[in-house]
Amino acid sequence: MSLIGQNVTVLGAGVAGLAVARALALRGAQVTVLEQADAVREVGAGLQISPNGAAVLRALGLEEALVAVATRAQAVELRDGLSGDVVTRLDVAGAGYHFAHRADLIALLLDGAREAGVDLRLLQKIDSVDLSGARPAWRNVQGGTGETGLLIGADGLHSKVRLALTGKVAPFFTHQVAWRAMIPESPGVPNVAEVHMAAGQHLVSYPLRGGTMRNIVAVEERRSWVEEGWTLRDDTMDMKLAFAGFSPRVRAWLDQVEDVWLWGLFRHPVARDWFRVQDQGAAVILGDAAHPTLPFLAQGACMALEDAWVLADCLASHDSVAAGLAAYQATRLPRCSRIVAAANTNARLYHLSGVARGVAHLGLRMGSVVAPGAAIKRFDWLYKHDVTAG
Ligand SMILES: Cc1cc2nc3c(=O)[nH]c(=O)nc-3n(C[C@H](O)[C@H](O)[C@H](O)COP(=O)(O)OP(=O)(O)OC[C@H]3O[C@@H](n4cnc5c(N)ncnc54)[C@H](O)[C@@H]3O)c2cc1C
Repeated sequence: MSLIGQNVTVLGAGVAGLAVARALALRGAQVTVLEQADAVREVGAGLQISPNGAAVLRALGLEEALVAVATRAQAVELRDGLSGDVVTRLDVAGAGYHFAHRADLIALLLDGAREAGVDLRLLQKIDSVDLSGARPAWRNVQGGTGETGLLIGADGLHSKVRLALTGKVAPFFTHQVAWRAMIPESPGVPNVAEVHMAAGQHLVSYPLRGGTMRNIVAVEERRSWVEEGWTLRDDTMDMKLAFAGFSPRVRAWLDQVEDVWLWGLFRHPVARDWFRVQDQGAAVILGDAAHPTLPFLAQGACMALEDAWVLADCLASHDSVAAGLAAYQATRLPRCSRIVAAANTNARLYHLSGVARGVAHLGLRMGSVVAPGAAIKRFDWLYKHDVTAG
């Protein structure tokens, strides 16, 4: 189906929204993005972009821009949180893993969308979406209304489009919280992502922006409920105390933290229905709107990039919107469900205690001696998958 001149409205200017906007505009669609914020900006945090995500940026013509802002990863090290000893090291040099600042990824996607002719409208907070009529329709918080032929919900965790498609689904608190922080770093440090693991806790850290900054995400199991979102600040002392038993290497990083944010980690089910076809239109979701994930495999943004490519590709390569959307869901739902399940499993593995922890660490150490590379190979289905290869 030709997308030339097709009117598409994308809700949300995050990773998913900007990527799908560029992908569709490059195929000739007239794309408008509605964003609630007064500017497209991002929180101060890092993102790991694995080869499956980088493949999409390459296919969108944004590889050069990625290379300009991202750091190429050399390795991932799993370390014992208390001693700091390396349990196993996965060599990823040359394999296309990147560390990027979220703001840099969003900026390059925004430039890419604008360059492809996408119309971005800010201060468009959508209050509700109605899919009961002939075409997708919405109402914004000022009371204004609109409708379109194809509505793409890239509006994240609390998606209004998902709500209209599937009704309300309550997530559940995992009893884990994540602190995130940035500290200055000395250029020249190795480009290694370190995962420091202990009973009920782990901390991930890697350098960003040419090694001038260090991203820290520290996760702890706890009973009390914490809100899910990017804006809740916490006292730095809470994080420092929680990780006081960790190695001197980790404590030295935490001593430098001046600002910290806290995020309650929730498990949301993957949506069962990702699209609806109406008499004269259709609506569809992607990214966190369709499959929010725990961050333990660092795949949320990468899945959003993959979704964006596959959605545009399916629409372009099928005879009708209905067939394209059905193919999109059939391709993406099983893969995203598998990735979300794998992230849930990682949460358990990182936080083992007692005998189970000793056995798991021994297994990882032995594995890296007996079969170096086997650990990363287990994830070939994830990282080596290239949705742009056809
Ligand atoms: C601690 C942490 C670490 C992470 N680390 C990684 C990582 O290393 N690698 C990785 O791949 N992923 C990571 N993720 C996941 C990743 O951040 C998300 O999966 C990704 O940002 C999802 O992109 P999105 O575009 O679907 O949603 P979002 O980024 O949430 O974008 C949604 C957009 O829609 C807008 N919007 C929302 N509601 C409305 C509305 N009603 N009206 C108008 N606009 C609206 C928002 O303002 C926003 O711009 C991490 C997540 C967490 C919590």
